[in-house]
Amino acid sequence: MRKPLIIANWKMNHLLDEALKFLQDFKRESVFSRLESKNAPEVAIAPSFVLLSELHKKLQFNSVKLVAQNVHWEERGAFTGEVSLSMLIDVGCDYVIIGHSERRTLFGETNALIQKKVAAALGKHIGVVLCVGESLEERESGKTFDIVGEQLTTALSCHSLETSCHSLEKGNPELPTKLAIAYEPVWAIGTGKTALPEQAEEVHLFLRKLLLKQYGEVADQIRIQYGGSVKPDNIASLMAQPNIDGALVGGASLEASSFAHIIEKAFL
Ligand code: PEP
Repeated sequence: MRKPLIIANWKMNHLLDEALKFLQDFKRESVFSRLESKNAPEVAIAPSFVLLSELHKKLQFNSVKLVAQNVHWEERGAFTGEVSLSMLIDVGCDYVIIGHSERRTLFGETNALIQKKVAAALGKHIGVVLCVGESLEERESGKTFDIVGEQLTTALSCHSLETSCHSLEKGNPELPTKLAIAYEPVWAIGTGKTALPEQAEEVHLFLRKLLLKQYGEVADQIRIQYGGSVKPDNIASLMAQPNIDGALVGGASLEASSFAHIIEKAFL
C-alpha cells in the first residue's frame, strides 16, 4: 500500500506573515492533529526559497515535511541566483520539486537539464518530486504518452550524464521513498480544468509501467501524484483511482482550510 503524498506548492505566493498565518490556521484544523496516525497521508509544503528556513523552525517537530520548488545540480560556484542541494538540506528540506511545467515553459528547462537535477538530488539523498505533463496541443494531437514517456525516461536515465548516477539505478534501495512522480497536465494547471479521473489514471498507469520496466517490482512502491486544479471537491474521485497516490496542489493550497479539506480526503 502506497502512502499518499499531498504537497502544497505555493509557487511565488505568501510573504512571511501570510505563511505564518497559514501555519497558525492549519494547526487549528482538526486534520492537523491526525497527521501522525498510521492511515494519514504524508503532507508537505513547498514555500518560496526565502521562507524555507523560517518554516523549518515552525514545522520541525510536526509531521509536515518541507519541500523546495527548484534546485541547481552543481554543488557550489559562480551561479548567481541559484540554490544548491546542500543549501536545501541545510535548511531542512525533505524534498525538491524538479521539472515543474512552469520551470519548463517559462524558464526554458529541458529534459536534459532536469535529468542532471534529478541525478544530483537523489545522489544527495533528498526526496525528488519529478513533474511531467503534456500541453493541450500535445494532448489534442495524440502525443500525450510520447511526451510524458520521454520526460520520465530522460529524467531517470544515466545516459550522457558526466557525473556518476548510481542513484538512478535499479539497485538504489532509497528509490521508493525518495522518488515521487507528479503527473501534471499543463492544460489543467491553474486553469480550473481538472483531468477526468479516468484520463489521469490512464497516464498514471502508463507511467507506472515505464517505472516497472526500469526498476522492476520496486516501482510498485513509487508514488505518482496528480496535479492540475486539485480542489476539495475533486480530490476524492482522483484518489479513488488505483495509480493516483496523492496530489501536488497549487491554488487550493494557499488557504489552510482548503488544503486541510484536501488532506481529509486522502486518508487511507
Ligand atoms: C501546481 O502548482 O503544480 C498546480 C497543479 O497548480 P494548480 O493546483 O493551481 O493547478
